[in-house]
Parts: sequence; structure tokens; C-alpha cells
Amino acid sequence: MQLNRRQSKRLGIYIHIPFCRQKCAYCDFYSYPPHDERIYESYVDAVISHMKSYKSVGADYSPDTVYIGGGTPTCLPSDEVLRLIRGIRSSFRIQKDAEFSMECNPATVDYDTLRRYRRAGVNRLSIGMQSSNEGELRALGRIHTLREVRDTVRAAREAKFTNINLDLMYGIPYQTMQSWDETLHRAVALKPEHISLYNLKLEEGTPLYKNASNYVFPDDETEFAMYTRAISYLASCGYRQYEISNFARPGYECRHNLKYWKCEEYLGFGPSAHSYFADVRFSFKKSVSNYIKSVRGVTNDEMTDDYEQIPLRERVGEYIMLRMRLCEGIDPREFFRTFGKDFESLFGSKLMRYVKGGFVDVSNGTYRFTPSGMFVSNYILSDVLDFDADGNFVI
Ligand code: SF4
Repeated sequence: MQLNRRQSKRLGIYIHIPFCRQKCAYCDFYSYPPHDERIYESYVDAVISHMKSYKSVGADYSPDTVYIGGGTPTCLPSDEVLRLIRGIRSSFRIQKDAEFSMECNPATVDYDTLRRYRRAGVNRLSIGMQSSNEGELRALGRIHTLREVRDTVRAAREAKFTNINLDLMYGIPYQTMQSWDETLHRAVALKPEHISLYNLKLEEGTPLYKNASNYVFPDDETEFAMYTRAISYLASCGYRQYEISNFARPGYECRHNLKYWKCEEYLGFGPSAHSYFADVRFSFKKSVSNYIKSVRGVTNDEMTDDYEQIPLRERVGEYIMLRMRLCEGIDPREFFRTFGKDFESLFGSKLMRYVKGGFVDVSNGTYRFTPSGMFVSNYILSDVLDFDADGNFVI
């Protein structure tokens, strides 16, 4: 694959670990429990070799964020994780103050392991808590209990992690406002620096989707009440909402994820990982064996799923969809500086309908969603933006 080099310093690095101890009932991410654990070593070998092949491409860059996600990175033996981290550092000049995140499932780590990761430079831990209710955790097929979440956070603090995210989920079978309140209170009591919310969606092909008729789910109204309750409660506890689903204490916004929403460059490694680099988007096929074989000797193209140069009109569409996720919204002046186009003449009249309905707020000339707008943001954006028959954005 030929990429045009571009002089720039900042870059995000994402590494996908496609393994989990057990598949959760709702999950359609590319990950699976391996039959043979020898795959871990071969996989880490492949990712390290793959990163090395980008060494010259990345020479002009100094990554300021690294994110090891999945899957469950903490499924890997800790020696493999440490080898992976050394591999990242030998292929890229990671900035000294880089944000270095790792996802972690409770019940897959202990103090010693976390201490080793912290010493290796991981400085942000994202823990999948999801719920504090044991029945809800079971319905989701999670492998851990609330107690294990607490133990993991305690171990992480002892291991000197000062930047911890907790993932929480609403819309879970049998979840009530009361159990959601408990989850929020118990999460905040653990004093994380960052909280991410996920609205459970039934993804086709997952066990939860297949068995949905056996469960009772909160209705849309309750889900909306859960979302707005979280916004007001987290605000009262000092968490500033900066994105539709993300809340942080001041200074702890996730720098890596902000790159996605601000259309900044990042390189992803591993099957299903996406990249955006030099105005090109590409991703790798969802197959560990194909990935390993390709890295071992076949060309990059055989592992690539999509590869597209993003035309201006597509970049405009992406910019709007991603920027509107952020609470800072869209400033038409910045839009003009970026694309040389007048935001208000393109979208102003369509957005005005939603301004009148209380879904979009315009202040200081900037357009941003209100909490009600955020909850139905996909609907609003698909109405405001125009797409052709192939699903491409048109202006
Ligand atoms: S731990 Fe995360 S990636 Fe793994 S199956 Fe569960 S939700 Fe999916």
C-alpha cells in the first residue's frame, strides 16, 4: 500500500487485540475466545512485524496517543503485552507525555500485572464495568462481578494509575431507573477520572439479538430518562460532558478518541482495525489467520478491507457527523477555514427546524446538540445531510 507522507507531528496508534475470555451476549466487535493460546504469541509477532513495516511511513510522526483495545487486551499473557509495548516503541517515536491507554476487563488482571503495565508506560486504564447489578451483568454475559470491578480499580490505583475510565451501559434487560441510579452512584464512588456511557443496541447475530424475545428491555422513554439522568448526575459530581457519551473530570478527556471525532490522523493495527492517514481511510479484514499470514509474507493489500481516498464532499460529511458528537459543536468560521464553504448556507435552514424543536442550540454562532438532540443525533444528522443512492454524502 502506498501512502503519501505528510509533515505532521501528531498521530494516534491503535492496536486491536481480537481475543476475549468469553464472548459477551451483546457484542459484535471482532473478538473471540481462542481454542489454542499459542495464537497469542503468533498474533503479537504479526502486529510487531506489521508496525515495523510502517517505520519509514511513520518517521515524520511522533505519536501522542496509543490505544490498545479490543477485544480484551488483558486476556494476553502479560509478557506478550510487554513485548507488544516494546514493539510499539521500537517502530514509533512515542511522545514523552503521550496518553497511553489500555482496555481492561475486570477479572482478567491483578495488581502485579497492572504494575508491570504502568511501569512499561501505560498511563490510562479503561475498565469495562457496564453495570453494578449482578443480574444485569449476567444478562449481558459479562464474566465479572461488581466486587471484581472494585478490586480492579483498587489494584489499578495501587499500581499508580491516575487516569481511569469506567464504561457503563444503559438499556440492559430488566434495568430500571433505580438500578441505573445505583450503577451511576457506585461508579462515581470509585472516583474514576472518566466515564463512558453506552446505549445497548441489539446487534444482529449476537445471542442477545437471537433471544431478545425472552427479555424485557427498558422502553425508549426510559432509556432517554436514563441518559438525561446520567448527564445531570455526572455534572453534579464534577464530570463535564464533552461528547455524546463521554464525561471527564477537567483535563482527563480521552485524547485518543478526540482524534477520531476531530478527523485527526491515526494508524490502526490488527484485524478490523481502522486507520485514517494522509486523507486515506483503510481497515483490515476481520480474520486473525488472514492477518498473520499476510504479515508473514503476502502484500498488505490482501489484508485490507477498504481503502479509499476521501473526496472533499465525504470529508465534509464526516466532519459534520463527528464534530456534532462533541459538545463544542461546529463553529461555521472554522468550517469555512477548513473547507472554504459556508456552513450556514449549506445546512442552516435544515438545522433551524431542530433549533426550534429544542434539539440544537446556537450560541456564539456555534451549532451544538442539546441533550435531547444528542439522544436522537443519528436521526437528525441523517435528515440534515444528503446522501446519494450509494450512501455517499453529497453537497
Ligand atoms: S469483553 Fe468487550 S470485546 Fe470482549 S466480548 Fe465482551 S464486550 Fe465484546
